[in-house]
This record gives sequence, C-alpha cells and structure tokens, in this order.
Amino acid sequence: MKPVTDESRRRLLKSVTLGVALVSVAGLPLRAASAADLPLVTADDPTAKALRYVSDASKASGAKPGSKCANCSNYQGAAGSAQGGCLLFPGKAVKATGWCSSWTAKT
Ligand code: SF4
Repeated sequence: MKPVTDESRRRLLKSVTLGVALVSVAGLPLRAASAADLPLVTADDPTAKALRYVSDASKASGAKPGSKCANCSNYQGAAGSAQGGCLLFPGKAVKATGWCSSWTAKT
C-alpha cells in the first residue's frame, strides 16, 4: 500500500512541476507584448473618471504645471515613449502626455 502512495505523490509532484513550468513559459509572450500593445485607457473607464484622467495634461484642471504621466512615478513606459502602463491602470496604457489626480513626481 505505501509504494502506491509514494508513486501517486511522485506523479502529483511531476504534474505540479510541469504545470508551473508551462505557466512560466506561457507567461513569457505576455510579458514580451509590452505596454505598446496594451489598450489605451478610455474616457469612459471608471478608474479614469474617478481619477480625472485626461490624455492631454494641458487640459487637466488642477494639474501642477509640467506634471504628466511621463514624469509620474506610477508610469511604466520607457523614457521617451508615447504611451505606457500605469500602476493604477493594470492591463492598460496611458498616454505619456496624460495626467490624473494621482500624479506623483518621479524621484
Ligand atoms: S498615476 Fe501617473 S502615470 Fe498613472 S495616469 Fe495618473 S498621472 Fe498618469
């Protein structure tokens, strides 16, 4: 009886190991997709509305002069990028020229 249990345990461990490996490999293309492929945040996005996000910081009311997504600590886009991810909008991209009320200066 005990050898059967050990064999079952081995099979389970192999399955779990294979599953973890497949998930890891499957995740690579998603990471490689980059923020350039993410859909842009739209004006009707509930989070965008709540944070008063605009794609053009010059049109934002209450924005500190010069503040924009590109110089926000939450911006995930590369330097000089036109758009990129934002920690507050998972799975979406914001314009580098955008702004929202959660803007925080990049340090
Ligand atoms: S948190 Fe920063 S990067 Fe994100 S939308 Fe607001 S200003 Fe842009």
